[in-house]
Amino acid sequence: MITKFIKGLIKRQQKPKVTSAKSANTPQRISKKTHRIDPHLLSKNAVKVTHVLQQAGFSAFIVGGAVRDLVLGISPKDFDVATNATPEEVQKLFRKSRLIGRRFQIVHVTFFGKERPEIIEVSTFRAMLDHEGEHLAESGRILRDNVWGTQAEDAERRDFSINAMYYDPASETVFDYHGGMHDMQKKTLRMIGQPSKRYREDPIRMLRAIRFAAKTGFTLDPETRAPIADLADLIHDVPSARLFDEILKLLMSGHSWPAIEGLRAAGLHHGILPLLDKALDGDSASGTGTEFIKLSLSNTDERIQAGKGVSAGFLFASLLWPDLTQNWRRNLAGGMANVPALHAAMDDTITSQNSGITIQRRFEADMREIWTMQPRFEKRLGRFPHRLIESPRFRAGYDFMLLRCSTGELPSSLGFWWTQFIDADLSAREELIVLAKAEDIKNGNATKLVSKRRRHKSKGASSPSAEFLKT
Ligand code: ATP
Ligand code: MG
Repeated sequence: MITKFIKGLIKRQQKPKVTSAKSANTPQRISKKTHRIDPHLLSKNAVKVTHVLQQAGFSAFIVGGAVRDLVLGISPKDFDVATNATPEEVQKLFRKSRLIGRRFQIVHVTFFGKERPEIIEVSTFRAMLDHEGEHLAESGRILRDNVWGTQAEDAERRDFSINAMYYDPASETVFDYHGGMHDMQKKTLRMIGQPSKRYREDPIRMLRAIRFAAKTGFTLDPETRAPIADLADLIHDVPSARLFDEILKLLMSGHSWPAIEGLRAAGLHHGILPLLDKALDGDSASGTGTEFIKLSLSNTDERIQAGKGVSAGFLFASLLWPDLTQNWRRNLAGGMANVPALHAAMDDTITSQNSGITIQRRFEADMREIWTMQPRFEKRLGRFPHRLIESPRFRAGYDFMLLRCSTGELPSSLGFWWTQFIDADLSAREELIVLAKAEDIKNGNATKLVSKRRRHKSKGASSPSAEFLKT
């Protein structure tokens, strides 16, 4: 689709002049005939926001990633609007709006529709800072960013040329300040301004470069790529929560595997997801570890590309699984019982990961639940499966178990059994349990349990089966 669009564009249009950052005060105006934005891909609410602002005498445009995606023929996942109205002026025009952010003040305008609410982010044109004094950290990183400016200045402080185009829905015109359309034709990701300076101002731009390259299939312009190797360490200056958000975006981009390869090729991966490094560098996990990670990432990508939801807890649970199983095995070899060995391994894995980016608590809770459920899938007798299926997070645990089956870590017959169990009525479930028992006996798995029961009986335990159920 993207390739088709670009070929068409090259045919239809004379090459637009690439404007350099210095002469970028007058944008190139690109008409509908050339940009070919499909109006059906526009958010009605974003158009409404620009309309209301324009009616009130301000200028307002859809901007950034949404314009990039619209030109590529992709449906944008969110819409940003840029305007010369101040945040306070924006707030006065929209009843359901909220001022958010400190470093970067924006207004969220919320629309409640039949489906989930849509938030349009409205930001005021910002000026490029003069890079002197209070706004910069020692490394050159920008700390505060609320100096209003013109549209041209606003364009100059954006990251890539393809992210600095403005679309006016009223005139259906794209305003392109930095040759974004031309870079689209060339399938190039080009940083606006001097790349090394822009990375120092905000090192997260290095990760964005890799993410957009993976998402669009574009190539990083050589000058944009060159400084990354030297500046990679600046990533550690970025506050952990922001880094986590960016990594999450990268993993949830629908192109996570090429993005991870991109990070590794650029030398940007070290210390961000330490356990992922360990697994992928091959210094600790076996080939199955890499296989497991690849498979879970490609599953995630497929789900996202099909418009299905993906839980971050599930994703991190799978990325850290190879390390966890290694710790678990080590604890078992040291004589610990199965479940305590698993819990101790979970603590170790999470602690080691948190030396890189700290996984947020809510995701950590999901991960622990998914992991804790895993040994329970192997207990298919008595009330066990009935209880497991009633767990609130059963579905995530089940999907995770299926992932383990697909890498050969568990027999695929186990996944099949559970899939049948989920769909079965009560009597069919009892039949499945009988089948599982026969299978366990055949495989020698039941012997231990039976002998345990006998031991209890001979000790005079009141209810051996109750004791058995507790294990
Ligand atoms: P997507 O939403 O698909 O991840 P996006 O380009 O819309 O991609 P956002 O994080 O939503 O990314 O940012 C919106 C716009 O704000 C970008 O297109 C870019 O113009 C600008 N922007 C975002 N982050 C930065 C940054 N770190 N430095 C400079 N400009 C940025
Ligand atoms: Mg966006």
